[in-house]
Amino acid sequence: MVNSKNILSSVEEKCVERGIRLTPRRRQVLDVLVQEEAALSAYEIAQRCNADSDNPMPAMSVYRILDFLQEQQFVHRLETANKYISCSHLSCAHEHLQPQFLICNSCRRVEEIDLSSSAVAAMASAASAAGFASISSQLEVNGLCDRCVHANA
Ligand SMILES: [Zn+2]
Ligand SMILES: [Zn+2]
Ligand SMILES: [Zn+2]
Repeated sequence: MVNSKNILSSVEEKCVERGIRLTPRRRQVLDVLVQEEAALSAYEIAQRCNADSDNPMPAMSVYRILDFLQEQQFVHRLETANKYISCSHLSCAHEHLQPQFLICNSCRRVEEIDLSSSAVAAMASAASAAGFASISSQLEVNGLCDRCVHANA
């Protein structure tokens, strides 16, 4: 399991800089995602948050919190799967680029990568040549991660 403490304290610093609040519930939702390498659905997130809680979070609050965390780019939504993943740059100070995702078909782990903006522009122009005017700038590419390749070798 990931030690999420340092990551969450960087997020707290970012919240202070941005003048927003990481409430206990926002923190809890983010913590669930930081500790998980695979993407989770809102339902799965709610289940984990509520696992040992006397005061369960309603699904609506989970969605609202996820919207907030997405706006801040603390989490991302995989559009094809409709699942959420924590940003891999939570402790970084640099500017956030358009995220692209690699998804392992075997263990479901997700890696966030930054493609150069020229690669994204090349894709947009190829799409436009094929008659697609507006394409998602978020790529979600399936494959096998190196851990699974080695495990199967
Ligand atoms: Zn990110
Ligand atoms: Zn980074
Ligand atoms: Zn894998």
